[in-house]
Amino acid sequence: MNKVVNTILNETNFLIASHVQPDGDNIGSSLALYRALKKLGKNVKVLKSDTLPEYLSFLPHYSDIVEYSPSNKEYIFIALDSADMDRLGKNKQIAIESKVLINIDHHISNPNYGDINYVDPSSSSTGELVYKVIKELGVLDKDISECIYTAISSDTGSFMYSNTSSETHSVVADLYKYGIDANIININLYQNKSLNKVRLFNKVMNKMEIYQKGRVAVVEVTKKLLDDTGCKMEDTEGLVEGVRDINGVELAILLKENEGFTKVSTRSKYKVDVAKLCSIFSGGGHIRAAGCTINESLPTAKSLILKEVGGLNEWNN
Ligand code: 5GP
Ligand code: MN
Repeated sequence: MNKVVNTILNETNFLIASHVQPDGDNIGSSLALYRALKKLGKNVKVLKSDTLPEYLSFLPHYSDIVEYSPSNKEYIFIALDSADMDRLGKNKQIAIESKVLINIDHHISNPNYGDINYVDPSSSSTGELVYKVIKELGVLDKDISECIYTAISSDTGSFMYSNTSSETHSVVADLYKYGIDANIININLYQNKSLNKVRLFNKVMNKMEIYQKGRVAVVEVTKKLLDDTGCKMEDTEGLVEGVRDINGVELAILLKENEGFTKVSTRSKYKVDVAKLCSIFSGGGHIRAAGCTINESLPTAKSLILKEVGGLNEWNN
């Protein structure tokens, strides 16, 4: 962390980016660090890696996230919440060409691809790590605290998952001291579903498939279903968690149909190491929440993943 702090203090030009298919930790930690660097007088931009989710548009500085290609290599690139460089999408090449690449992340599968790596798998979220950096820089304020709260709340399932620690709560207690209104943030994050999204969830849940005596539940989102309900792929946020939340379900799998590939999201409750499961398909993530991309149609991807699931030891008793 000290190397990250010193590099920020000593350098001038920064580009911040996070992973494709952005989530609350990704956007929250990016905007928090962006504002912190701006307050320090740095020349900084947050790069857009993918379509931005509308539900996070309440965050301060959300509209400052931009498409950008630097004209020279005199910049420090800060990759946030990205388990590997491919997750940076179109910004990967910009990261490779940077003067210094800083990698701040909490994924266990992160191979330390940066010149400076602040990677801590025991941290609930990248937001918690970014908090420590910004605290050390001495520029924490209300806007930054709102972004960090969003990051931490998103990745801990509102402080419910096993990655939530006393440290997580200490950090959040400090954020309250900067005047955040957690209730308003929670309404924006969790009590704001569009009617179309609810209809999509209902249709998807109605077609849920059950395996291993109710311990595995699989749902799928096709392009047709999105069209029928007037939804976008980002509207699937929260869906796989809803499947996991069912009594008796140990492993929840969501298959998302895309042009030429299928995106897979997995969640588990007690036993299955989903990061390991997804690594079979070159994906990764965390032990209880992971994902991968399979370059096959949805039905083929489903049978490939179900074959691996069937071979797990967890179903033996
Ligand atoms: P989600 O299922 O919400 O897309 O992702 C769950 C977790 O798995 C997140 O921590 C995310 O970064 C990680 N993840 C999702 N998809 C991939 C992937 O294709 N590759 C890797 N390495 N991690 C992924
Ligand atoms: Mn994260």
